[in-house]
Amino acid sequence: MIKYNLKCQNDHEFESWFSNSEEFDKLNKKGLLECIFCSSKKIDKSIMAPMISNSKIDDKTIKTLKNELKNEKNKLLQLRKYIENNFDYVGKDFSKKVREIYYDKKNNKAIYGTSTPKEREELAEEGINLFSIPWVNKDN
Ligand SMILES: [Zn+2]
Repeated sequence: MIKYNLKCQNDHEFESWFSNSEEFDKLNKKGLLECIFCSSKKIDKSIMAPMISNSKIDDKTIKTLKNELKNEKNKLLQLRKYIENNFDYVGKDFSKKVREIYYDKKNNKAIYGTSTPKEREELAEEGINLFSIPWVNKDN
């Protein structure tokens, strides 16, 4: 099933479901579609909003999509593990610690933590570039 946003010549918009795009063309040509507001038969597709029902997606496609999502997640989990093993967690003190390290040339400790957008802006102004990564949970 495909959902189309339809629009009549008087700019009325409404939604309708069709089994495929040919069905829409066929019905429209035969004048079987009409505006639900003014009964105009001059109907056009507005913004197309294709919605595919589950029965149209085969199991293989779903499996591929799930695998891709899983791979992506595994990569992020590996990254998270690497950071947890090699970086010190400093939590909310992050921007303070970053400065300490940045201005103390002998210190090149690797840290991670959280910072607010404002803190990140201030650090960027001082020439300290941060790298933020998507933090995934193992169980979602
Ligand atoms: Zn209308």
